[in-house]
Amino acid sequence: MNLLEIRDLSIDFPAGEDSVKAVSRVSFEVREGETFGIIGESGSGKSVIGLALLRLLPANAKVEGTVFFKGQNLFSLKPSELRKIRGKRISLMPQNPAGALNPVLKNGVQVEEVFERTERKEGMKKALKLMKQLFLRDPERLCNLYPHQLSGGMRQRLLACMSLSFEPELLIADEPTKGLDPEAKEGAVKLFTKIKKEYGKTMLLITHDLDLALEVCDRIAVMYAGEIVELDEASKVLGTPLHPYTKGLIRAQPRNGLVPLSGQTPSRIKLPEGCFFHERCRYSRAECSRKHPEIRNHKGGWIRCHFRSLQ
Ligand code: SF4
Ligand code: MG
Repeated sequence: MNLLEIRDLSIDFPAGEDSVKAVSRVSFEVREGETFGIIGESGSGKSVIGLALLRLLPANAKVEGTVFFKGQNLFSLKPSELRKIRGKRISLMPQNPAGALNPVLKNGVQVEEVFERTERKEGMKKALKLMKQLFLRDPERLCNLYPHQLSGGMRQRLLACMSLSFEPELLIADEPTKGLDPEAKEGAVKLFTKIKKEYGKTMLLITHDLDLALEVCDRIAVMYAGEIVELDEASKVLGTPLHPYTKGLIRAQPRNGLVPLSGQTPSRIKLPEGCFFHERCRYSRAECSRKHPEIRNHKGGWIRCHFRSLQ
């Protein structure tokens, strides 16, 4: 069953006389129990999607499309109805664990404040238990410390506990490994594997970290210049990618020799004619600069490219 269904989501931000196309007609669904990954370089529109789902974008953002969460259109809910879902049934683990915690409050106070006043005692019990389960030893001591006294990895686990303490049906994690050192990154893989396997959580994982995506995600959408260019099972997308952009992303990984993708992502104010990737694509042909490819079904997955089989 689909927990989340996103249909034709487009997001524009006004920029003077123009507008920046952050996301263009994105559609995908997240099935119950699965971890769905959105990957792509920074600026590809990934984080904006996470924020849009919970209506956390600035008021000037122009959002079109629909987002159904268990059949309810999140975009037509009243603010009071949305509050019952946000943070409780859908939880967003923010990017940048350091910035997400208040530096002048002890960790324990921040965890406590997640809960309504009347639920704090019970909530804290649950949170302390979660902390132990999610690899945070001696949670009582940790609650007495300030965020800066924790390592990046510990701050992240603390945020994960805060996000999970309401037992949300959907956890959205935005760039959970950004800024972490290699050891903490490995810790994050273990953390999300545990959240997935032991808690059976449905997750939307927004990341540029392909190692994390491969370990944890069931299916993946690859985004380029605000569009989905490939969508399929994680092992296929990352193991036998079809789209030239996905291939380029994989080649740019350290273990594959760090071959950078040449060229720049196009301006989102004036997107190029034809395929948005054509100026950087090593397989580009005449047709590619004239006609914009639609996304289409290919062997059970989805690809946005004029050509079916690219070597
Ligand atoms: Fe490359 Fe053309 Fe495919 Fe775009 S449509 S990805 S330019 S081959
Ligand atoms: Mg981002």
